[in-house]
Amino acid sequence: MTSVKFLDLLTQYHAIKPEIDEAVLAVLGSGQYVLGPEVEAFEREFAAAHDVAEAIALNSGTSALHIALLALGVGPGDEVLLPAMTFTATAAAISYTGATPVFVDVDFDTCTMDPEEARAKVTGRTKAIMPVHLYGQSADLEPLGRVATDHGLALIEDAAQAHLAEYRGRKVGGFGQIAAFSLYPGKNLGAYGEGGAATTNDPELARQLRLLRDWGQQQKYHHEMLAYNYRMDAVQGAILRVKMRHLEAWTERRRHLAALYREKLAPLGFVTSTEAPERRHVYHIFSIFHPQRDAIQRWLGERGIQTGLHYPVPVHLQQAYRELRHRRGDFPNAERIAAEQLSLPLYPELAEDDVEAVVEALRGWANQPSSGK
Ligand SMILES: *Cc1c(COP(=O)(O)O)cnc(C)c1O
Repeated sequence: MTSVKFLDLLTQYHAIKPEIDEAVLAVLGSGQYVLGPEVEAFEREFAAAHDVAEAIALNSGTSALHIALLALGVGPGDEVLLPAMTFTATAAAISYTGATPVFVDVDFDTCTMDPEEARAKVTGRTKAIMPVHLYGQSADLEPLGRVATDHGLALIEDAAQAHLAEYRGRKVGGFGQIAAFSLYPGKNLGAYGEGGAATTNDPELARQLRLLRDWGQQQKYHHEMLAYNYRMDAVQGAILRVKMRHLEAWTERRRHLAALYREKLAPLGFVTSTEAPERRHVYHIFSIFHPQRDAIQRWLGERGIQTGLHYPVPVHLQQAYRELRHRRGDFPNAERIAAEQLSLPLYPELAEDDVEAVVEALRGWANQPSSGK
């Protein structure tokens, strides 16, 4: 039977093993295990790749979101706008500051924050707007930026899934005051452990972010503010530097495989991920959308094809946010995505034969009498 994994990190490791092993061993022999020269070099290379002035390397994407909000002065009594369809971390980071997450519905086609809905949600307490470049496609940053400027709000990009994505020819990461990237192993650029980065073009915000990640100290044991231990390990910095050298090629490979899926699935009548004009989608996730999503997932699973759901419960309906008293129907597009979205296998090491196997199984599903066509 065919077997197609949803994600395969080990094949990538084997492909770059000599480079990685050498870099890791060099760190182990250096005696410098947290921050240090490898992490600083990674910061410069990551910033350059995203055309921003500064990158601050951290221990997770969630930490990046958290200190981005703190550096911009978000706290108790404030409201922060975020899309109802995202990974839970976007909302959690807002809650950590004591501010209230205010959900905004998404556009169904791009699965990113709807700018008009965002504008309608602004109140006197709104302090920031946090669009998510979901699945690797930039949110509609021009109109969202206008909402922010018109109301004097900070704009924070949740770019956790969108390394090297572009909007109107410019890399994400520099459209707002601060952007947050995750470097979790399964992300498009992933450490071999936890990792994250914040980017900014503002030197004063960069200074604040560096203080917030390392106990509020510029000089050892002199603490200017209440802060955190959100530092990146040197081993992860060294690993990420190796992977940065491959990221553009891996991104192009993702885009190629996504185009292949789309070309083969459209004639079968499947609604797939779309790429909006003037946005470079980096396909952290490639989706199909179908009312019989669960049946399709089961069908594929029975044929050895692993898939994922991103995400089956929208944030406003999570138990964790029950006190906000949202109900089914509050954000129809987010709820429809939660019910209909299915993530197909897509990663740079996926073979074209694997794409063909997934398509073949979906063709089988579309051709059976109970497929609802
Ligand atoms: C992964 C992710 C995060 C959190 O990143 P971690 O590195 O796992 O803390 C935040 N937002 C989104 C949209 C994500 O996908």
